[in-house]
Amino acid sequence: MTLPQTSRPLDVIVIGSGIAGMSTAIALTLSGHRVRVFERVRQLTEVGAGLQVSANAGHVYNALGMGEALIARSVPPDRWVVRLGTTGEVLTAFDLGRPHLEQHGFPCCNIHRADLLDILLDRLHAVAPGALHLGAEATGYAETGNNVTVDLADGRQISGDLLVAADGVRSPIRSQILGPDRAEFSGNVAWRSVIPADRLPADFMPPDHVAWVGPGRHFVMYWLRNRTLLNVVGVVEGSTDVEESWTVRADWQTFKSDFAGWHPDIQAAINASDRENCFRWSLNIREPVFNWRSERAVVIGDAAHPMLPYLAQGAAAAVEDAAILTRVLAGDAAVPAALERFQRIRAPRAARVVESANRLRRINHMSDEAELRKLIDASADLFAERDTWLYCYNPITAPLDP
Ligand SMILES: Cc1cc2nc3c(=O)[nH]c(=O)nc-3n(C[C@H](O)[C@H](O)[C@H](O)COP(=O)(O)OP(=O)(O)OC[C@H]3O[C@@H](n4cnc5c(N)ncnc54)[C@H](O)[C@@H]3O)c2cc1C
Repeated sequence: MTLPQTSRPLDVIVIGSGIAGMSTAIALTLSGHRVRVFERVRQLTEVGAGLQVSANAGHVYNALGMGEALIARSVPPDRWVVRLGTTGEVLTAFDLGRPHLEQHGFPCCNIHRADLLDILLDRLHAVAPGALHLGAEATGYAETGNNVTVDLADGRQISGDLLVAADGVRSPIRSQILGPDRAEFSGNVAWRSVIPADRLPADFMPPDHVAWVGPGRHFVMYWLRNRTLLNVVGVVEGSTDVEESWTVRADWQTFKSDFAGWHPDIQAAINASDRENCFRWSLNIREPVFNWRSERAVVIGDAAHPMLPYLAQGAAAAVEDAAILTRVLAGDAAVPAALERFQRIRAPRAARVVESANRLRRINHMSDEAELRKLIDASADLFAERDTWLYCYNPITAPLDP
């Protein structure tokens, strides 16, 4: 499965070299466009923790020529397990390994975000040498009927046929297209830590994806890098607002006290966390938006559809954008018409993902245990339903205008 070749190569400016920006730059280059990527930071450093990659994203990585590299550096979880945070009782579990692969043709994988960015960067350098420009911060843009010009903070102006803004939740291009950001603090913060396996008890846990749930909080654990690192995420309600960033360090004692009284495995994981390197991300809610474009500029990734992380689909939705944008731009339509078509295809699906993630917040943090059990019992259907509309979608082959 490959991306279509364009009959009308464009000069494309991509802002941001996260997962959305790099996957789009690779996809558009493979399709025959000339792409330049402008990234604000001067040096790309290892950021973030674990990411789950499901088949809907996996198909795109295959088409970008990096599916095998991604699988090689991932850990495929055997099962999805939901346990009660306090006692550890298993509330539900289902197979995730073989069934996901057999049903969708790509395994569900857990990968370190830094490893995924590394693979993307290698691929970008291979297909478009010299395309990435670091230390280049976009501040805004102007467009005419024929081209678009991006202003950089250092005074430079870059012109092209199309601007793709993949510059994350605080995108200045998003503000220009959509108006001021309307983010509302969800009252939840996510603790993140990556723990070397040798700091944990031997045979700490099998290669499962485990979600521990309880009143007002939940805790997720899964293995990364050949089971040498344990990724943990602890989400807590009722916390005060902090920054919405991968790189905000926070006090380990607060992490510890946020999960006081929970299962010994959770205590073991928190105790083994590097006390100087616990990160806390503030989770904001933004209602889905449907106007992603102007005439020659479009937002993608978190700049277009920021979401709560409960469905593990933010990056997956970003690479779906990369594939669909590339497919619509391969046709004969003029840029504004192609962007309109892209938005018509992508915005409703992205909105469904955002709203589904919002709904999961309820199940993860249910305060009444009886109610929680009822919801979990009913959730087998929910997981099956998710398989049919979310993971089954192949952005490389799905009809563009159903
Ligand atoms: C706790 C947590 C867990 C998650 N787990 C998962 C998961 O399991 N699976 C999944 O699919 N998703 C997950 N996500 C979501 C996923 O991480 C994001 O959706 C994804 O990283 C967004 O990528 P992006 O490229 O759109 O944005 P970003 O990663 O934010 O990249 C934006 C880039 O643009 C650059 N930039 C910003 N402003 C400018 C500017 N003005 N000029 C130039 N460059 C600029 C930034 O430096 C950055 O490099 C999770 C998120 C969180 C918070």
